[in-house]
Amino acid sequence: MTNLDPNDTPCEGKKDGLPPIARRSILLVGLGLLAGCATTGSKSVRMPGPLWPDAKLFTPTAPVAPAAPLAPARVLAGVIPRSAWTKGTPQLDNIDPMLPVRWITIHHDGMTPFLATDYASCVGRIELIRNGHRGKGWADIGYHFIVDRSGRVWEGRDLRYQGAHVKDQNEGNLGILCMGNFDQQTPSLAQLVALDRHLRLCMVKYKVKASQVRSHQEWASAKTACPGRNLQSKMNGIRRAIA
Ligand SMILES: [Zn+2]
Repeated sequence: MTNLDPNDTPCEGKKDGLPPIARRSILLVGLGLLAGCATTGSKSVRMPGPLWPDAKLFTPTAPVAPAAPLAPARVLAGVIPRSAWTKGTPQLDNIDPMLPVRWITIHHDGMTPFLATDYASCVGRIELIRNGHRGKGWADIGYHFIVDRSGRVWEGRDLRYQGAHVKDQNEGNLGILCMGNFDQQTPSLAQLVALDRHLRLCMVKYKVKASQVRSHQEWASAKTACPGRNLQSKMNGIRRAIA
């Protein structure tokens, strides 16, 4: 389930869960303190001068280093990198590093039914989901991979970062979204084949057993119908196939 589902709230106290307004408040308080210091200094207490005699002549001895660029995304074979669908980058002060993968969780997006298979429509849908998650104060799209109806697999959140897709259970949990609403439509064969293939890749790479592959609703903390009855009904078959 995606941004429309309040049950998708990630771990409380985790960085992704901190609402932007709280961060803004902290920032404003910080700015207020700075402003307060400056005001006091100018009115009553003479603030010490700068360490250098003439600020205008001061030049730093070393250039200020730019923010470190993101390392190349860690994608698996056949996965379309996120640079293909977004220019957006994760909010790095609001994201946790990924721990070793112990779980894989399957979702649907749970929005309006989606039958499109063309590249542009899929890009639009993924960006819509990302914007929804960012609007909730999350650092980025919550899922690590997205499988569309034509069988493409897209990189979502960079796997260097913990996802935001199962309440209280995001540590070491790799999230895979199947695009569509499977309470109202069925997954396509191409989508199921791609999901199966991608699950196998992830399981081999991260040494995850079939018993550690769950749907969203199989997490007790989740309280959600995700990934919809028409995908949930296939979960046992998926696990048997990949075991
Ligand atoms: Zn879900």
